[in-house]
Amino acid sequence: MGKISIIVPCYNEEAALPIYYSEMSKVMDQMKDVEFEILFVDDGSTDQTLQQMKILNDQDERCQYFSFSRNFGKEAAIYAGLKNATGDYAAIMDVDLQDPPSLLPKMYEILQTGDYDSVATRRSTRSGEPKIRSFLSESFYKFVNRISKTEIVNGARDYRLMKRNMVDAVLAMSEYNRFSKGIFGWVGFRTKWLEYENIERSAGETKWSVKKLFFYSMEGITGFSVAPLSLASVLGILFCILSFLMIVVIIVRTCIWGDPVSGWPSLACIIFLVSGVQLLCTGIVGEYLSKTYLETKKRLIFILKDTSEHKKEMKHETV
Ligand code: UDP
Ligand code: MG
Repeated sequence: MGKISIIVPCYNEEAALPIYYSEMSKVMDQMKDVEFEILFVDDGSTDQTLQQMKILNDQDERCQYFSFSRNFGKEAAIYAGLKNATGDYAAIMDVDLQDPPSLLPKMYEILQTGDYDSVATRRSTRSGEPKIRSFLSESFYKFVNRISKTEIVNGARDYRLMKRNMVDAVLAMSEYNRFSKGIFGWVGFRTKWLEYENIERSAGETKWSVKKLFFYSMEGITGFSVAPLSLASVLGILFCILSFLMIVVIIVRTCIWGDPVSGWPSLACIIFLVSGVQLLCTGIVGEYLSKTYLETKKRLIFILKDTSEHKKEMKHETV
């Protein structure tokens, strides 16, 4: 009998949690030959999310909870969940039912064939999402795939079921700046992609503002490509060639027509352009330097404040 660990990151999801559990228990009842554990990760919620998790833990001992000392982000929650997963398989699932639990039996079946190590999902449409957000996302995927060797699949969700070997590989990558979509691609393994239409949230609100998504996309770019770093060298070479040509033109022109002093507006433009490019390049270097700085500090990816694990241990000790 196989065991599936379901990892559910939650941030201020008091409304969505009970709905999720009722849906998920239907699926668990359906998959009788599989053992389950649901690892709820409370990512520093400020509402009643943790209390809801405790209630679920009292109701059903397959539900475990891990509560962070503050909001560390979804990536940290995924890592904490995978680290504590004891199953032969691990699935990552949002609590808002945008990752339909009803897909799990099919995903499990695909892994049973032995042809794949993981089953991942992507959405086929972006309906229900603001147009500007879709446009920015599409542009990000196009850009990052052009400059990175690691494939980052457009529209990929974090919802996936993995075998233990892949989970161990993902865990071995204990980097601080985590970008799961890239990490899953980087570790390799055979992945089957399933598609489904975008589903509206069951309750609550999305936690991703455009600003948060922007910084997340920067994580993806700097985490999986060093191409922007060569921009400085490429532009440097281009500008050298250009300025050499201009020097020749000016010398020849002065020799033939003399030297009337003019052209300060064009000079001002050139100074602005070149200093702008220099600042941009310094900024890019700074971006990578800051990531390196954070990596070398080896800061903790998450800090636990409360967990149901100790209860489990206490139970085992008293038995
Ligand atoms: N989430 C989290 N920490 C955060 C933001 C989000 O654990 O800082 C969780 C959230 O509770 C949800 C999942 O990540 O279960 C996906 O978030 P959301 O639904 O807001 O994102 P969207 O589906 O809109 O991309
Ligand atoms: Mg969602």
